Amino acid sequence: MFISFEGIDGCGKSTQARLLAESLRTDGRDVLLTREPGGSPGAEEIRRLLVEGAGERWSPETECLLFTAARRDHLERAIRPALAEGRVVVTDRFADSTRVYQGAARGDLRGLVDDLHRLMIAVEPDRTFVIDIDPATALARGAARGGSEDRFESLGLGFQQRLADGFRALAGEYPGRVRLIDGSGTPDEVALRVRAAL
Ligand code: C5P
Repeated sequence: MFISFEGIDGCGKSTQARLLAESLRTDGRDVLLTREPGGSPGAEEIRRLLVEGAGERWSPETECLLFTAARRDHLERAIRPALAEGRVVVTDRFADSTRVYQGAARGDLRGLVDDLHRLMIAVEPDRTFVIDIDPATALARGAARGGSEDRFESLGLGFQQRLADGFRALAGEYPGRVRLIDGSGTPDEVALRVRAAL
């Protein structure tokens, strides 16, 4: 089984991915907990190029290609082999992040994102949990963590609001696969909602 977590920066999806992986392991499942961009040595190198890029280092189109290249490597080297061994894969972000971020960040690149996905990735998770949270709350959590040097996270509340709207819209676009999870409350409260939805 292939499960992804999605949502805006600071929504708590990394914590939830970890908590679900731990709870599935307690149930006796063999789980690969992984993340994007990254998740394989090559994809982690590409991640560095993406998140440490100062300012407008890449054009939006090049950025899409780099995210897709990282995902392809992650898929080939980590996700597919794990699924083939019968393991459960839990990933912190997958293709929905590219649909929402690169679409919302600059212009409408959704057509390009969809073409690249069809040509190079062509798989979807079995279940996707969008951790849904108010962007102001998420930004406050980020500030409490000490802020971020990450150039994507510094784009502000308006950008995060567009992302939140984009992630919510995915639930309508992929009704069987994508579930919205209320991200308010403690990590354990949210984890219970995820388990119930799964
Ligand atoms: O989830 P994480 O914080 O590790 O993601 C790294 C950064 O890359 C985030 O700031 C996220 O906003 C950004 N990102 C992006 N487009 C994607 C995936 C992640 O801009 N497709």
